Amino acid sequence: MMEGQDFDSLQLSQNLNLSQDSFRELWETVVTPSISTIPTATDTIIGEWKNDGQMDMLLINDQVLAEGFDENLFELPLETVPKDGVTPPSSTVPVTTDYPGEYGFQLRFQKSGTAKSVTSTFSELLNKLYCQLAKTSPVEVLVSKKPPQGAVLRATAVYKKTEHVADVVRRCPHHQNEDSAEHRSHLIRVEGNQRAQYFEDPHTQRQSVTVPYEPPQLGSEMTTILLSFMCNSSCMGGMNRRPILTILTIETPEGEVLGRRCFEVRVCACPGRDRKTEEENSTKTQNGTKQTKKRKSAPVPDTASVKKSKSASSAEEEDKDVFVLHVRGRDRFEMLKKINDGLELLDKENKTKSKASTKHGVPVPCSGKRLLQRGDRSDSD
Ligand SMILES: [Zn+2]
Repeated sequence: MMEGQDFDSLQLSQNLNLSQDSFRELWETVVTPSISTIPTATDTIIGEWKNDGQMDMLLINDQVLAEGFDENLFELPLETVPKDGVTPPSSTVPVTTDYPGEYGFQLRFQKSGTAKSVTSTFSELLNKLYCQLAKTSPVEVLVSKKPPQGAVLRATAVYKKTEHVADVVRRCPHHQNEDSAEHRSHLIRVEGNQRAQYFEDPHTQRQSVTVPYEPPQLGSEMTTILLSFMCNSSCMGGMNRRPILTILTIETPEGEVLGRRCFEVRVCACPGRDRKTEEENSTKTQNGTKQTKKRKSAPVPDTASVKKSKSASSAEEEDKDVFVLHVRGRDRFEMLKKINDGLELLDKENKTKSKASTKHGVPVPCSGKRLLQRGDRSDSD
């Protein structure tokens, strides 16, 4: 009799999730299939199907709880209630490729360096913004010709990694709860603009914020918008250490995308430090993994790596030759000039310091051999 009843409810719970194979798999990992622990119809199952075919599930049944199962099941955002929506099709995942479009849509960030005190700084090398929670990050928007009347700029956040991209980026429950703003669940805010509008797509639940595109003020070539990010990347129940991208699009009033730019964002306590660390790590990785010797690592100058491969190879192999480079735009010229000045300086320093192993200066301190990709003169030790 008891068995019959349990069997019925087993049937019931399986019927509820008919054709969802992964449910059964999950089920088997969650519940040790002792028949007595299979929930009866009175048990409550709160669940949400996710796009990767997994189910976030909260099963309220003392007996099952006692059996112990994956604790992660409890790390549900508070708002997880059954949604009638089915898994959105993959096309609803935002596109994250850059697309300047016919209006030559571009972004530019102020050069804030990596000082400890900096609250927002952008790495050109990593195409990544580092900022503190709720601090303003100015983003300069450039177009090569005037967009249509009524064009808007839209900012959307999306998880960077494929395994998370289906999840919607929202603020963590903690930060939402202590905020009374109407758009408190939105990670990205536009500051200082009364015309900012906050959206949530009814189908995908993805959130975004728009502002009308304003042409540059007289004598200026760009418009600046002020973004702030309202959770730390590490916020539990929110981003939870998952890297995000911010997608900035320029759109017609009807929502047709005219241009798109993406950059990664890390919201953290020490943007300057983290940028420096990550840039250094990236430079090391790029320069190959053969590197085994421990080196006293001098910090890599912020800009040195941008054009490194080019300058490095020419520095090694044709250090006496002089090349002329035509550069479009003063800003870019200034940037490249800075890099070049830095390299010249390093050359000078290295020449005075260097001993046997390297004949001439190499741009990045303490890493001469890393840069010698084609180098035949590198194996002197
Ligand atoms: Zn948070």
